[in-house]
Amino acid sequence: MAKRDYYEVLGVPKEANDEEIKKAFRRLARQYHPDVNKDDPKAEEKFKEINEAYEVLSDQQKRAAYDRFGHAGTDPNFGGAGAGGFGGFEGFGDIFDMFFGGSGRRRNTGPERGADLRYDLRIDFEAAAFGQETTIRVPRIELCPTCHGNRAKPGTPIKTCPNCHGAGQVQMVQNTAFGRFSTVRTCDRCQGEGKTIETPCPECAGRGRLRRVREIKITIPAGVDTGHRLRVSGEGEAGERGGPAGDLYVYLSVKPHPLFQRTGDDLILERAISYAQATLGGTVEVPTLESPAELRIPEGTQPGTLFKLRGKGIPHLRGSGRGDLLVRVKIEVPTKMTPAQREAVRQLAEAFGEQVSPPEKGFINKVKEAFGK
Ligand SMILES: [Zn+2]
Ligand SMILES: [Zn+2]
Repeated sequence: MAKRDYYEVLGVPKEANDEEIKKAFRRLARQYHPDVNKDDPKAEEKFKEINEAYEVLSDQQKRAAYDRFGHAGTDPNFGGAGAGGFGGFEGFGDIFDMFFGGSGRRRNTGPERGADLRYDLRIDFEAAAFGQETTIRVPRIELCPTCHGNRAKPGTPIKTCPNCHGAGQVQMVQNTAFGRFSTVRTCDRCQGEGKTIETPCPECAGRGRLRRVREIKITIPAGVDTGHRLRVSGEGEAGERGGPAGDLYVYLSVKPHPLFQRTGDDLILERAISYAQATLGGTVEVPTLESPAELRIPEGTQPGTLFKLRGKGIPHLRGSGRGDLLVRVKIEVPTKMTPAQREAVRQLAEAFGEQVSPPEKGFINKVKEAFGK
């Protein structure tokens, strides 16, 4: 979705002063506050948009960056303007603080799925072609094996939180300048867990989760290529409050091969043959991903001709069968010849009626070289 202009969001002119921006924001925030628009699902979106616009326009530095560069100027990754990250629920806490004077940010309660992880793996050309079993070492957050995430030292009591009676949240009704609002806050006592512990687990210091480097076996299927992503279900970070673990995504990149070039599942190989082989035909040996194969060169083969060795390419990732090996023939021109070879080539040229360098010179030079003169 394209972002709307922040001034437009707040309905103020570009030259609006701080006071005007603040006033417009307060009016809109009250109008679209999610607590007073419970039946309007769009209100929350709108409310976030207003909040985001205000966060930028109420900050001199961010506003200047926005005026100069637009939305790009407020990107936290943007040229070191120090705009700081915001957006999504990040800014949500501030508006709640403003309305209710609280200090805590809105926190999710209940089970939360663990984060997905990305792991970049560079593999050999052959591993991509034929598949491979391998082990990667992934740093991640895991459930504490001692307390299994319940944060208490094993054998010590876990009690229902007396503050929220196990709900993890407490409801509060407040009268503010804008009217009466009912809001639900995370319980301060149990941090949303609904339970309190007496003795924290010694292994995780009562956090329930630990940072570990875990060895994970993965199977790379035959036929993958750079950009392929493997999903390893449930091997991401541990969930919170009993939530499921995230997934691990392994992004593959394939090292190039010194001989073969890959296009899709086909391989391209350049093979030099001699002028004589191209002219008269013959059989040459070509490397494949496995054992060398023989390639028959027909008489009168032209440079650049492509020969296809069926099924000698990369196995198809989906389905059976393999790509082909395409051999592109180039003609090798010798750079060093013996005098006898040189003479033979000269005679060949003569037979074709071609003009070449005078024979004596080349021949005599070779003789001189042979005697070291
Ligand atoms: Zn523990
Ligand atoms: Zn509680």
